[in-house]
Amino acid sequence: MFGVLSERLQSVIEKLGRKRIIDEKTLEEGLKEIRLLLLEADVNYKVAKSIVSRIKEKAIGARLPSGITPFRVLVGIIYDELVNVLGGSSSELNLSGKPSSILLIGLQGSGKTTTSAKLANYLKKQGKKVLLTSCDIYRPAAVVQLEKLAKKVGVDFFFVEKDPVDIAKLSLERAREGDYDVLIVDTAGRLHIDEEMLEEARKIKEAINPQEVLFVIDAMMGQEAVNVATAFDEKVGMTGVVLTKIDSDARGGTALSVKEVTGKPIKFVGTGEHIDDFSLFHPERMASRILGMGDVATLAEKAQEIISEKEALSFQEKLLSGQFTLEDLRKQLKLIQKLGPLKQIASMIPGFGTHKAMKQLEKMLDDKRLKRMIAILDSMTPEERKNHTIINASRKRRIARGSGTSVKDVDNLLRQFAQMRMAVKQMKKLQKKLSKKGINFQDLFKF
Ligand code: GDP
Repeated sequence: MFGVLSERLQSVIEKLGRKRIIDEKTLEEGLKEIRLLLLEADVNYKVAKSIVSRIKEKAIGARLPSGITPFRVLVGIIYDELVNVLGGSSSELNLSGKPSSILLIGLQGSGKTTTSAKLANYLKKQGKKVLLTSCDIYRPAAVVQLEKLAKKVGVDFFFVEKDPVDIAKLSLERAREGDYDVLIVDTAGRLHIDEEMLEEARKIKEAINPQEVLFVIDAMMGQEAVNVATAFDEKVGMTGVVLTKIDSDARGGTALSVKEVTGKPIKFVGTGEHIDDFSLFHPERMASRILGMGDVATLAEKAQEIISEKEALSFQEKLLSGQFTLEDLRKQLKLIQKLGPLKQIASMIPGFGTHKAMKQLEKMLDDKRLKRMIAILDSMTPEERKNHTIINASRKRRIARGSGTSVKDVDNLLRQFAQMRMAVKQMKKLQKKLSKKGINFQDLFKF
């Protein structure tokens, strides 16, 4: 999401930023371009207009402090405005009840059922006892799907063949009796806004009086998103939004319009089809990604989830002690693979968000290459991984055959490994120099 918008926005800002002074005419031209590209990204036209007018107001009002280029000031103003339209700051769930109930509403296909299960998984990881239920009596397949997902997540599922309002009431009773912390209620959706569906959702809400009503919307919805969100908000009422499929080619308009139109924050985002592809929404991080400033915070969190501190430390120690072996390389590559597609990781690194840099990076870091490297390392014996010097020509042939690659590929990997070891040696020298000056090398890696 945001790929094209982000790229074009950056180029407009850069163009404006090259000027030493930004007069009103230049600013007007730049803002016109920004408005156009917001419209192209499917941002609602009224929203685009107010975004631009707020940027203009701030830009005119901003006095440029000496030493700071207009570029910096402009980026700052646009960043603040993006954070503002995306909702200001992240907002957690209200889980003040015992049990707390969360109602999910939205159109069919928006990702409601998947989101119910993802949310259950998210809350279970926080130590909550969760009960999931489905009120979608019109699509038996949806009930079966949610039951399966509940099993996969490892939370309880409740369903009785009754009318949707009764199912919701009974599930709340069950949640109370069973001492559950959270009840998640999935509802039926239709393909289009439909009075009957809205009325049913409203009745369910009235019956269980949930702490949260989350409106689930597909990021790819585009212009229509504003009408759908408004209808749900007016007829049913909502406390927050879950934006799904942000891993898609969506142009970002839904994300940038929904808060402005409904006044309700985006609380979570769906980032893929798997249960774990779900996270709290952080407007500041998203704004900084749009402007190509990276998202180090998310990257660090993601890495932390996968790599324990102990593992990270032992890797660092190994690197610095110079005992880095092919076995360590294999472990590291497998960890990188777990972090997700390399392109996705790269977009979170500051400076890599820009188009040109991305293209270069894609060449350097493609997932196929990573897979091939791991296959080669997997085909080696533990002894070979411990001591690479025993890998002679006949061993190379065997490794290539075992991994479905060529001897040249094996050679390439060994050469890269040798280069890494060289780099490690240089790092060790640097460490010695720094420690003579009283600087702790390891501190350089803390952020
Ligand atoms: P519902 O009709 O609203 O209950 O929608 P579903 O939960 O059945 O989801 C519809 C489709 O969207 C399914 O194929 C899901 O796998 C897919 N889906 C849901 N959330 C996401 C997401 O965040 N990313 C992607 N790529 N697909 C998603």
